[in-house]
Amino acid sequence: MDKKCPGQSSRRMIPDQVVSELECPECGYQVEFFPTDSSRACPECGTRVEKSRDQLRNDLACADWCPSAEECLGPDFSKVKKVLEGKQVETLQALLDSIPDTEKDVKDFFRKAHRDCEDEEFLIDTEKSVKPLKKANPELHEKVVKYYSEFTKESD
Ligand SMILES: [Zn+2]
Repeated sequence: MDKKCPGQSSRRMIPDQVVSELECPECGYQVEFFPTDSSRACPECGTRVEKSRDQLRNDLACADWCPSAEECLGPDFSKVKKVLEGKQVETLQALLDSIPDTEKDVKDFFRKAHRDCEDEEFLIDTEKSVKPLKKANPELHEKVVKYYSEFTKESD
């Protein structure tokens, strides 16, 4: 990853410019994130470290205006772009497609959670939808978390 950002005339490279670090909650290791990473496994202990949506937006701020964002950030960018642009319909569909048809209750949950989500930047409001489910329906909660984290995790 030593590609020069095509949207920049300076010599700044992607890693210097936009790599962010988050501390692993388990071992304290500083885990490096590229702009399109929404989560990464800690290289030290393997714990999955999640980047917040705000952080993701922040890291991708250049992509809001940069015409070279797609070229610069690669194929993951189109996925993350939908988050930035609030175009969640396709993302919801992709999420639903990733869940087997036998898991109707899980699919129904995500459809409803998406409808209930007031911030159009987000696919679902996990605080409002997923958290309360833990008490109300632990079994469904477990499945929802499983499918959602599988869907959102990067393929590393
Ligand atoms: Zn760790």
